Amino acid sequence: MAINTGDLNKLVDEKVTSLGNDILAAILHSAEDIITGQGWLEGINKLLAELGNITSVSRVWIFQTLDIQDSHIVQDYAFEWYSHEKYKQIGLPHFNHFKSPLIEPEYIALIESRKRGEYQSVVTNKLPDAWLKKHLRSQGVKAMLTIPIIIENQWWGTLGLDDCERECIWTANDITLLRTASYFISSAIVRDNHRAKQNQLNILKENISCSSWEMDSRRGHLWCTSEVLNPDEKLVTRQLFTFKQWLKRIHPEHRKPFLDIAKHFLKFSTPTLRYDLKIMRSDGQYRWIEISCNAVKNEETSNNTIAGIYWDITKRKTDEERLLLEATTDSLTGLINRRKFESIIKTQFAPLTRHKRPFSLAILDIDFFKKINDRYGHSVGDHVLTQFSQTCKKNVRPTDFLARIGGEEFAILMPNTNQNDAQNQLETLCREVYQTPFIYQQETITYSVSIGFTVIEDALIQANAAFEAADYALYQAKHTGRNKVILG
Ligand code: GH3
Ligand code: MG
Ligand code: MG
Repeated sequence: MAINTGDLNKLVDEKVTSLGNDILAAILHSAEDIITGQGWLEGINKLLAELGNITSVSRVWIFQTLDIQDSHIVQDYAFEWYSHEKYKQIGLPHFNHFKSPLIEPEYIALIESRKRGEYQSVVTNKLPDAWLKKHLRSQGVKAMLTIPIIIENQWWGTLGLDDCERECIWTANDITLLRTASYFISSAIVRDNHRAKQNQLNILKENISCSSWEMDSRRGHLWCTSEVLNPDEKLVTRQLFTFKQWLKRIHPEHRKPFLDIAKHFLKFSTPTLRYDLKIMRSDGQYRWIEISCNAVKNEETSNNTIAGIYWDITKRKTDEERLLLEATTDSLTGLINRRKFESIIKTQFAPLTRHKRPFSLAILDIDFFKKINDRYGHSVGDHVLTQFSQTCKKNVRPTDFLARIGGEEFAILMPNTNQNDAQNQLETLCREVYQTPFIYQQETITYSVSIGFTVIEDALIQANAAFEAADYALYQAKHTGRNKVILG
């Protein structure tokens, strides 16, 4: 026998005998459009039309389930084919994102059945005299078949066929084939979702340099696209790393924290992980990246995959760091400012409560500073302030905190320092300021500083009380001759 070849689509047009074959033909006609994903909207509309024409029903529709709660369900009339204009329902205001209360037991049972993935076939006249019969009659429906559309094990929506002219009875074969149609619809929706996500990713990638990555814990490797790590490459390539190679790329400070967080993420299956870390680019430069990913768990193999994207956030990080620095430092002297100093004092009070270690707080105010400004000008005053801050820096220990808290006012916080040590240190500083004049155009500008300080041993003393005590001591220093250190 010769091999019979021909157009696959034309084959099903030849003499067909049963409704089952016709439904199959309808599915095949639309399958290609739907599966290739080219014009899935048209694909679904075409499938509904084929199904409607072949089954001779009045209407074929798809409802999408938008929200489902204990008290109500929100659905949208997503697609429809109708045999005659009079059967058209799509677009009617009450079918647009419509909310139905879940009160009628019959309706609740219907929804529950759809959620379980079951079909419903009804002939209106044969229904008990209850809600559904009334409801279908009000729409002129004589028979209805509904098949749920399931996506990723969730009820996404419903494919329905309404017959307003006949009391149509569906065979098992017909229903099975219509279920196949619902699978095609599911596949079209999934493809469309993927395409939408891909589009979003492409838009994202056009706007920020962003790499995709995927980690396979079973095989112990990770691949990522080259945008971030090799920004100079014209063509985007995929790079494969072993875990070890990848970890080596991560900044040593971030390696362990990232590993810990990734393990926790996999163990507890949190939905998404976002993490900022520094990574070494192929040119050896460290860059800040933000990682965003999801874990995909394969139940059968208990194999875990993490997949996501990451993008370069170095500019954002440096801006943030700069802003933070600006908000906490004094631009003239480079010392920390009053705001930062006060927050440090607050954090220093906590250890004091635990260990009962004293600390000293000193406030320093340059003597007759206004005169320097008046005589030499503001900019010379600025130089004096800078020189003064350098003298202070030389005379504080690495554990001390030195701040410029006002115009010509400074403060030193000395943790773990008793009265004696603080007094000695501050007197040395006071002396050195006086002995280090500022030289301006061969002129020697000698200046001095007055210092008030207090020692805090009792954790119950609040930061402002400590400030007040040191300030009062400073006031006394000013009124008893200046250029001295007074304990408050
Ligand atoms: P006292 O010994 O009582 O502290 O006298 P004083 O002149 O130092 O005190 P006063 O508070 O009267 O003057 C402080 C001056 O410091 C006034 C202000 O113009 C000046 N000043 C504040 N901030 C700056 C600054 O950033 N640069 C300069 N050059 N001067 C400043
Ligand atoms: Mg002052
Ligand atoms: Mg002063």
